[in-house]
Amino acid sequence: MDKIRMKTPLVEMDGDEMTRVLWKEIKELLIAPFVELKTDYYDLGLKHRDETEDQVTIDSARATLKYGVAVKCATITPNAQRVEEYHLKQMWKSPNGTIRAMLDGTVFRAPILVRGVRPTVRTWEAPITIARHAYGDVYRNSEIRIPGAGKAEILFTSEDGQEIRQPVFEFKGPGVVQGIHNLDSSISSFAHACFRYALSVKQDLWFSTKDTISKTYDHRFKDIFSEIFEDYYRKQFEEAGITYFYTLIDDAVARVIRSRGGFIWACKNYDGDVMSDMIATAFGSLAMMTSVLVSPTGQFEYEAAHGTVTRHYYRYLKGEETSTNPVATIFAWSGALRKRGELDGLKDLQVFAGCMEKATLDTIESGIMTKDLALLHEGEVNGVNSRQFLESIAQILKNTAQNLH
Ligand code: NAP
Ligand code: MG
Repeated sequence: MDKIRMKTPLVEMDGDEMTRVLWKEIKELLIAPFVELKTDYYDLGLKHRDETEDQVTIDSARATLKYGVAVKCATITPNAQRVEEYHLKQMWKSPNGTIRAMLDGTVFRAPILVRGVRPTVRTWEAPITIARHAYGDVYRNSEIRIPGAGKAEILFTSEDGQEIRQPVFEFKGPGVVQGIHNLDSSISSFAHACFRYALSVKQDLWFSTKDTISKTYDHRFKDIFSEIFEDYYRKQFEEAGITYFYTLIDDAVARVIRSRGGFIWACKNYDGDVMSDMIATAFGSLAMMTSVLVSPTGQFEYEAAHGTVTRHYYRYLKGEETSTNPVATIFAWSGALRKRGELDGLKDLQVFAGCMEKATLDTIESGIMTKDLALLHEGEVNGVNSRQFLESIAQILKNTAQNLH
């Protein structure tokens, strides 16, 4: 059988622990037999990040800016314990943080649905994708514990010395106060990423804030989205048959629960943090979520939404059998291959990406799955280890891929 050829390389960012083990097996069993895989490889494993003083992370993000599509394995974000475990020169920053800062991206997360694992919300028939703004607000706040009576104010001093002053509160006794900010440039990037993503998947876009209460701050988000939609996207949305819909966050929550799913919900940073956990849990688990970082200039980085699954890795190192769910990592690869296929006009690569996903879902629907899913599944199931699960997928893929040519 002829293998599918690629034109432009995918930027491949290898990672750590259990997901690094799965990464290699996914390539070996599900990709290499079918695709003449072309990648620009970066080893983001913690040891190599340390050896290169984290230059490899920066290089991988630069390569993503150059080529446009990356696939990333989960990586360790070092803490004090990891510095000791890996004898690190420094407590290197989160690779995701570094990559996001360089791509100026928005993260889109969508659950992967399978028959047998039913969402807690019975009306949901299609995935709901959360688009989370990843800059500012309460994550970049400045706060004071107020010791006693006194006056709190917001003061802005411009570069030429002009002052804008706004009272916050006259305290009669102790309390707390907080200052937060955001940037027109960051909100605009967020809006562009959301509109482009909605167009790329042809789904409606919802956006929600609390602009009735926050008449300046949240209202700025609402206005920027509205202006960018009118200036750049209204016509394209009409042509694609999709809509942009703004509503208050509390109204959005109520509508989401009553909805049938199948749309993108853009959220401010804090709302997105809270709502993505709610959506992931209500649909099943983090191991059944796709995650893609989209930059406003059209670069895509696909990853799994979960971490390196350390507890399983330590068991694996002891030679014990592990049953780690590779679905999110498989979908990171299929997402990246499909996007590469779209950008390079390679129809067979796009079709193959679909076959990979279908073979994965068919395997689960036939009752073969990793143990985490077996616990959630309603029917008769066979909880297997990761390797057996991947081999079952490979078997189905062989049958479908034969019909590709
Ligand atoms: P985690 O790796 O997501 O795992 C937490 C727990 O969730 C696991 O112990 C496991 O539960 C379950 N789980 C997660 N993914 C699973 C899968 N694919 N299959 C089966 N079970 C799965 O989070 P963590 O333990 O908090 O973090 C571990 C490391 O990952 C840390 O070093 C952290 O820095 C890193 N991390 C990286 C990323 C990223 O690169 N995107 C994201 C988050 C965390 P049981 O043990 O109960 O089976
Ligand atoms: Mg959170």
